Amino acid sequence: MTTGGGNDNRGDEPGAKDSLVLVTGAGGFIGGHLVADLLRDGHSRVRAVDCKPFSEWYQRFPEADNRVLDLREIGACREAAKEAATIFNLAADMGGMGFIETHKAECMLTVLINTHMLMAARDAGTERFFFSSSACVYAADKQTDAQVTALKEADAYPAMPEDGYGWEKLFSERMCRHFREDYGLATRVARYHNVYGPYGTWDGGREKAPAAICRKVVAAKLSGRHEIEIWGDGEQTRSFMFIDDCLTGTRRLLASDIVEPLNIGSDQLVSINELVSIVEGIAGITLKRNYKLDAPKGVRGRNSDNTLIQEKMGWAPSIRLEEGMEKTYRWIHDQMVAREKGAAAE
Ligand code: NAD
Repeated sequence: MTTGGGNDNRGDEPGAKDSLVLVTGAGGFIGGHLVADLLRDGHSRVRAVDCKPFSEWYQRFPEADNRVLDLREIGACREAAKEAATIFNLAADMGGMGFIETHKAECMLTVLINTHMLMAARDAGTERFFFSSSACVYAADKQTDAQVTALKEADAYPAMPEDGYGWEKLFSERMCRHFREDYGLATRVARYHNVYGPYGTWDGGREKAPAAICRKVVAAKLSGRHEIEIWGDGEQTRSFMFIDDCLTGTRRLLASDIVEPLNIGSDQLVSINELVSIVEGIAGITLKRNYKLDAPKGVRGRNSDNTLIQEKMGWAPSIRLEEGMEKTYRWIHDQMVAREKGAAAE
């Protein structure tokens, strides 16, 4: 169940390969890939935690210590963190723009997970704690133009992040900082910019643009109705990072001495219209585009400034969108065909 990406030149987690590594949100997209990556890399004790029923996890590994726990509860966090030398805290109640613009309170309640996980990690003597923050922490007034100036880490302040989801992430970033300063917990914070790839959410309302566009193009291809609905005018811009780059950046950051929040994102800027064209190219079809102007669109433009990550790590995400989308499209295509036949594809 790999995406085919290697993990060469990765930093490694502190401590031995047999020290306990906890991944929260392991039933989700990035968490599932991270568990796979750690196991592939020889980690013998990986604890995987999510609140979803185990049968609904996107990737399942019997060799991991899999637990279904609701991490909003402090007791569950203590059980999860017990003996963990390293914690990757990825659990969050989140989704794409269609979800976060309409579920702000739910997104903010993730503060319970992040608060309780930090407390549990502090009390369990955890050596390294990773937190997945987001580009949604960046101030809205710096993202009003499609030809955006890429966001550098300092642009999060003065604070005016994405309502709900972004405020929670920014608050939890600061908690990580103060747990480091006040309690000596070694926290590392990544600001992920749109991550995509196989084994992620592709329907149901929480999916993000790359997966949603793949699904719509596959549906058009399978049905013969060569039309696509695009949210907004399609000229809004973003950058999208393939999951393999996300894993490399995550593990390198965890192993590094970089204590301030760091962008982990691609700087290949595209408009949504260009993204649709890429997927049309992969599918070998051209679709009539119908623009839904009142749909959730998010900010007008967003890109990752990778100066700091290059400077600190000598590395930055580089997998081309065309390459990553090809893999993502194929996987979603197979899922949809299998669903039509009444079975989930591997
Ligand atoms: P995901 O939704 O696929 O995975 C998150 C997982 O957390 C889900 O499986 C969910 O069931 C689990 N979860 C939610 N509430 C929980 C609870 N109370 N207890 C235990 N588990 C719980 O999302 P993802 O794309 O894998 O994102 C992982 C992390 O990265 C999140 O913190 C997210 O905010 C952050 N992030 C992701 C992106 C992206 O583009 N995917 C971008 C920026 C930041």
